[in-house]
Amino acid sequence: MISIRGLTKSFNGTAVLDGIDLDIAPGERVVIIGPSGTGKSTLLRCLNFLDHPDAGRITIGEVTLDAARATRAEILALRRRSAFVFQNYALFANKTAKENIMEALVTVQGRPKAEAEARALEVLAETGLADKADSYPASLSGGQQQRVGIGRAMAIGAELMLFDEPTSALDPEWVGEVLDLMRRVAARHQTMLIVTHEMQFAREIADRVIFMHGGKIVEEGAPEQIFGAPKDERLQRFLKRLT
Ligand code: ADP
Ligand code: MG
Repeated sequence: MISIRGLTKSFNGTAVLDGIDLDIAPGERVVIIGPSGTGKSTLLRCLNFLDHPDAGRITIGEVTLDAARATRAEILALRRRSAFVFQNYALFANKTAKENIMEALVTVQGRPKAEAEARALEVLAETGLADKADSYPASLSGGQQQRVGIGRAMAIGAELMLFDEPTSALDPEWVGEVLDLMRRVAARHQTMLIVTHEMQFAREIADRVIFMHGGKIVEEGAPEQIFGAPKDERLQRFLKRLT
């Protein structure tokens, strides 16, 4: 369903992704952990072509693309299959919560404005922000802004949702409500690829946990195995440092 083969990416001659192979089943929740600078964000960004991979094959649903010679049309087709939730929300400051959610529906999906608006209001209700539809990001708390960011990704109805440390920019008081919303998204059998440092949450939500180190997948397994019986010495050290 989702398949990644031999994905590589270098910046300035340094390999940041060093041959990533990964399959994700429909509805599966995969959590990526690992030290900072290890390529986690780059992996997510390459799947959405926010960064252009140097090489590798990516399949999401019916779209398969060879990164080394992907056409613009193929890239757009692949991009439509996933939705990205950013660490820093990345909302348009000059658009209301509702307009932020409508944006991709209108510009990327070409939906009529009235339909996009109805969908945005529906999603705002689902995220518990119905009363904030006409609020601008600056007047929302960090937690509310990130819930809009997640709502925007939900609205698209993408096969794959990518979360890049969605709570790490938040004050501690707002983390819980964002994780709660992610649990609700998961309950709908949405396929999710999540980078997070919230290990308790990872343990709870993940079907599978992947440990990345130096641009490679070093170890992967069920959460009980990764957290309870880590094999790789780098993973053991990483987990020890967190406690
Ligand atoms: P992580 O998300 O695991 O912390 P990243 O994927 O953000 O790691 O970064 C991996 C490495 O790639 C880091 O050394 C980072 O400095 C480098 N890197 C990421 N994006 C760029 C870029 N646009 N230009 C140059 N180097 C980059
Ligand atoms: Mg990162």
